[in-house]
Amino acid sequence: MTKTVLITGSTSGIGLGMAKSFAKAGYQIAFNGLEKNGLEISQAVGAEFGVKTSFSPANMLFPEQIRQMIADAEQLFGGIDVLVNNAGIQFVSPIDEFPEDKWNAIIGINMNSVFHTSKAVWKGMKARKFGRIINLTSAHALRASEFKSAYVTAKHGVTGLTKVLALEGAEFGITCNAICPGYVKTPLVEGQIKDQATAHNIPEAEVIQKVILKKQAIKDFVKVESIGALAVFLASDAANLITGTSIPIDGGWTAQ
Ligand code: NAD
Repeated sequence: MTKTVLITGSTSGIGLGMAKSFAKAGYQIAFNGLEKNGLEISQAVGAEFGVKTSFSPANMLFPEQIRQMIADAEQLFGGIDVLVNNAGIQFVSPIDEFPEDKWNAIIGINMNSVFHTSKAVWKGMKARKFGRIINLTSAHALRASEFKSAYVTAKHGVTGLTKVLALEGAEFGITCNAICPGYVKTPLVEGQIKDQATAHNIPEAEVIQKVILKKQAIKDFVKVESIGALAVFLASDAANLITGTSIPIDGGWTAQ
């Protein structure tokens, strides 16, 4: 039977890349994101790969909208086999200047939403005795950097939740793992490159090599296709005993 994956934040960047990898593998895709043309994006991927898709503009800050998104997708597709928690934002600032609203938004979107989505899909996965939960965390789920207090806190929190869900899901055929990328050139990172170039008053190419990719041994951006391939593998039967792990795909950053 055709499997269904719901990916949060899938109308841009890594989420969209993963959606295409799952579509290529024949999955039906429930899209979500705040991009205004989200519906068109979901339809274009559906048409390109010949798979059924849907789109929800649910805001990951609001549990009621999350529950409605899951309920709608379950009704439309008959169940959610794979949940990918990918939606995320970033804000960079020293702790003493870190705005409280930015802290709350990052904790809410990057961490709390993972609890709410996972809780909402759990009943269906348990009943079908199959489920895959994949959390898009970050190298910052395993290592810290200065000025990223909220992001590092949220991502480390999801590392913990990943382990707990792995233990709770074990008897029901549910696995839970995290993918921890280094830097991927998406709108989220392009914003950081511009900001750093202005802050340091150096060209963007220099920012990429000396600031952005400083911590990666391999000084190259991770490709969204590589993350998509790993996510599809984690969703497969071959990965049925991989659970509770955080898998870096980070050019050797966390080897240090
Ligand atoms: P992106 O900005 O390209 O995409 C983020 C997606 O999340 C968008 O579709 C956006 O609409 C959605 N989103 C944001 N806030 C939302 C909300 N409140 N409700 C619903 N959707 C919301 O960013 P990206 O780089 O593709 O990041 C995706 C994930 O990967 C994030 O969790 C990020 O932390 C993580 N990550 C990114 C990198 C990187 O280098 N780009 C590295 C490691 C981890």
